[in-house]
Amino acid sequence: MKKKVPIFIVVLLLVSASRAALGVGFQHEVSKGETLSEIADKYGVPLKSIVQANGILDANRLRIGTMLRIPGKALGGVWYEVQPGDTLSGIAHRHGLGWKVLQLTNDIASPRHLRVGAKIFIPNGSESAFRCPLRVPIDVTSKYGHRYHPITGRYRLHEGIDFRASVGTRVYAAQSGKVIYAGRRGGYGKVVGIQHAGDWTTWYGHLSRIRVSVGGKVDQGQVIGLSGNTGMSTGPHLHFEIRYKGKSENPVRYLTLR
Ligand SMILES: [Zn+2]
Repeated sequence: MKKKVPIFIVVLLLVSASRAALGVGFQHEVSKGETLSEIADKYGVPLKSIVQANGILDANRLRIGTMLRIPGKALGGVWYEVQPGDTLSGIAHRHGLGWKVLQLTNDIASPRHLRVGAKIFIPNGSESAFRCPLRVPIDVTSKYGHRYHPITGRYRLHEGIDFRASVGTRVYAAQSGKVIYAGRRGGYGKVVGIQHAGDWTTWYGHLSRIRVSVGGKVDQGQVIGLSGNTGMSTGPHLHFEIRYKGKSENPVRYLTLR
């Protein structure tokens, strides 16, 4: 049995709050009952590296709402503070990114309403554990989150992200792993599920062709199938999910989008 760090652990940050917010790496907000070891497991990074990255001096109580910097595997990047006169496209351009990528990653409703002083996460595209499953220009037709289903009309969680993709577009494994599902599954149509290290899975729905079989090993970037319009779908697209211990996560928090 792994020894658990006590449920509430006081985190003392060596750096000031503002500097931490502008640091490098992914951020994780501590929720009720979470332990440092659980957080370390989730992101697949050693507990020690989280302790070091956050300058944790006393690991007795972890305050709910504390923003922890997670180094390494998760989406890498820098935090930028919006200055007067900044535009989203200007910030994106300076970092060699499309403004839509920044809008998605930061869940900005409208680029016109960019608040001065707001902290924007700029992914650097090099440290992410999950690579985008498509190589065509990113066009998100439906985000992760609650929505009215376009076909059933029911209000429920959209557990993945939809990328526009014409039928026959190559779909790539977001990370290396083992195929745990390859076939039809209800509204998903033809779908592939891949098990990755550390209890993460990725799912690729509405495919027209499947090029892998259950039990097979896949490398990151390997073609696993072709996108399509199978299952409950209103038009050709790829439905992509990232799950941790079976629970869906917002993919834009983990994906390198360009
Ligand atoms: Zn979808």
